[in-house]
Amino acid sequence: MRSFVERTLFIKGKRSSEDVFRTFPNSPSRADILTLAELLGWSGCYGLNKILHTHTNYPFTAVFKNTQDVSYSRNEYISYSRCYESIRKPSGFCPVCVAEDIERLGFSFWRRAHCCELKVCAEHNVELVKRCPACDKQFSHGGHSLGVMWKTCEGRHLKDSPVTLNTDPFELKKAQIFQEILSFTHHLSEEAVLAVLNEKIHQDGVFEQKIWNFLSDRNIGDNIERRLGVVKKSRSKNRLPLDEPTDFIIKAIVETYESFADFVSDVKAYGDEIRPIESLWSTYIAGQQESTHFVEENYEFGVGYWSCPFPAKEVWGMWDWRPVYYPCCNFERPKKKGPQPQPQRVKNAPPGIYRRQ
Ligand SMILES: [Zn+2]
Ligand SMILES: [Zn+2]
Repeated sequence: MRSFVERTLFIKGKRSSEDVFRTFPNSPSRADILTLAELLGWSGCYGLNKILHTHTNYPFTAVFKNTQDVSYSRNEYISYSRCYESIRKPSGFCPVCVAEDIERLGFSFWRRAHCCELKVCAEHNVELVKRCPACDKQFSHGGHSLGVMWKTCEGRHLKDSPVTLNTDPFELKKAQIFQEILSFTHHLSEEAVLAVLNEKIHQDGVFEQKIWNFLSDRNIGDNIERRLGVVKKSRSKNRLPLDEPTDFIIKAIVETYESFADFVSDVKAYGDEIRPIESLWSTYIAGQQESTHFVEENYEFGVGYWSCPFPAKEVWGMWDWRPVYYPCCNFERPKKKGPQPQPQRVKNAPPGIYRRQ
């Protein structure tokens, strides 16, 4: 996201750019992202999710989605605000990509896939450069700002960095799988993903051997089995389980499959619905007690549709379910003894819905 903002400033020139770009913070909150999305013409919940999906590493979490979750990012749109990107994480680049971009577009940019733990460019099989070739600084807080991509360091441009071919096929495969997850157009059912991986781990002799040798890999196997149990049980009760980091899922795919396409075809064979990513961008989780409640924003009419597609099959019995009548200006109030209900302003009002002009 930082790269997107700095690149825009570079293209537009500092003076002609809108304030939003110029003052965009290093650790953006939800409000900053919403302002940016609005400027690009993407409203409300849809705008937040579109930016999260196309400019951050959020897809690593969101691609693996519970079948009973019809929102892209759960309640991110209304929950307490948090940071979506940190400048402390060192970025990296592929010198071949940078040179090609400059040839094609006249400028280059930082790619999401090159700014995580990967060591190799999936496209060029070239080692990623994680330190400045001129001064050896990292591309993170305390080192270079990302602006160095559009400038030079000690007279050298990043595109002129030396190119080192990668010789480790595992690192290349890993980079390709990460890249494919980021650009995947659909959500995969979390249960299907876990079930397929669980089966694969037990079938795969090489991986089973590895599991015995490395404690960390044994944890992956255990984690998959445990989470599969949680997800299946929750589905039978219509109760959405808590979100969990997906690193162990991605690690298991990389360890047991030759390509993401092979994995996807096994997941599809499980039979759960494969939903297009964009179809969930306008929806957020509005409340979660026993059942999960959703609101889908409609920007044509400026209204939100509430829904509870999977009502919980068990009730906790913590609430008083007797009906409460609230006074209304148009009808006679129902007779009731004791304290009379009064209209009250709600503490956390749901966000207003934008109407596209
Ligand atoms: Zn490259
Ligand atoms: Zn430098």
